[in-house]
Amino acid sequence: MSKFTKLDLNSVTTNNRINVFNCILEGNKINRAVIAKKVGLSIPAVMSITEDLIEKGIIYAVGKGESSGGKRPEMLAVVPDRFFFIGVDVGRTSIRVVVMNNCRDIVYKVSKATESVEPDELIAQITEMTMSCISESKLPHDRVVGIGVAMPGLIERDTGRVLFSPNFGWNNISLQDELKRRLPFNVLVENANRALVIGEIKNMQPNPTSCIIGVNLAYGIGSAIVLPNGLYYGASGTSGEIGHIIVENHGSYCSCGNYGCIESIASGEAIARQARIAIANKIQTTIVEKCEGDFKKLEAKMVFDAAKEGDHLAESIVKKAADYIGKGLAIAINMLDPEQIILCGGLTLNGDFFIDMIKKAVSKYQMRYAGGNVKIVVGKSGHYATAIGGAWIVVNNIDFLSNN
Ligand SMILES: [Zn+2]
Repeated sequence: MSKFTKLDLNSVTTNNRINVFNCILEGNKINRAVIAKKVGLSIPAVMSITEDLIEKGIIYAVGKGESSGGKRPEMLAVVPDRFFFIGVDVGRTSIRVVVMNNCRDIVYKVSKATESVEPDELIAQITEMTMSCISESKLPHDRVVGIGVAMPGLIERDTGRVLFSPNFGWNNISLQDELKRRLPFNVLVENANRALVIGEIKNMQPNPTSCIIGVNLAYGIGSAIVLPNGLYYGASGTSGEIGHIIVENHGSYCSCGNYGCIESIASGEAIARQARIAIANKIQTTIVEKCEGDFKKLEAKMVFDAAKEGDHLAESIVKKAADYIGKGLAIAINMLDPEQIILCGGLTLNGDFFIDMIKKAVSKYQMRYAGGNVKIVVGKSGHYATAIGGAWIVVNNIDFLSNN
């Protein structure tokens, strides 16, 4: 079992230590008086914390800074590669693993096709990929703080149990416990959309002042809501299921068991499925050439590429998807009036034309004057965003500054 324990965010001491550490990390060569000013602590309090962090080998003195009249102050910096955080993105088509160090640099990443969605086999693949990533990147085990696993579906917050994952066909699987039994580290399982959005927010800007919604447009569609004090889970922990808002009565079957959800029309999987059905119905389209006549190879990206080239069928599928996504976002804006909506996930990598269509649909459906300050932006972390978010789940929940 790992020596690192869960973070107690109610502890003032813990929070002070985190603030001082983050200040040194951001400052990169900073003296104690400046730290005290920035974090709002007395100089003796900062002295005590920094002495402790130096003793633990987490920060070090890098020499003397410029004098502001008296003695030249000692400058502090964070020891790179003192700790490592591992993030795992369990996707329907691929599994991605990243290693992030305590300076927030990604020092290793790997991606492999998802071999099976059967729980036992998938758990074995996650275990194998994580362990080989640790050995290939030569990480000392005692510096690995933990593993944050981003899993699509409803996750029980305290136990990391997968209550329901429509895209994997999972019900009630103790994913966190099973991984803990196999891996000699802390393991935390979090909903993939929440991990993704945390990763994007850490990458893009420091903190929301009111509310930020991140929307994952990928194989499925989900979202996460972030408030100034962190993720908003809701009373039952199921917040953010924007993909399962029903927009079409008697619409297509959705993996959640309902019909006509946004996800059943606008997800990557749904976009590919609609193209397959249209081709089977002999509708003329250049998508056939892109998948070389093989339906199994047909992916959403081919539909987007064809739409960009002016293919009528592809255009109509993409336009409908954008319209329904826009409708979902308008509902979210009317309800929550967020300051920012971050669009992330594979579908956003298909070009500005899709994002522009979504924005147009939002303005069509949102209530007049509602959400006047909302900015709709696209995430920047690319294909590894969710895995990076998994690593951040470990940073945010495990007390690596105290326990060693
Ligand atoms: Zn649904």
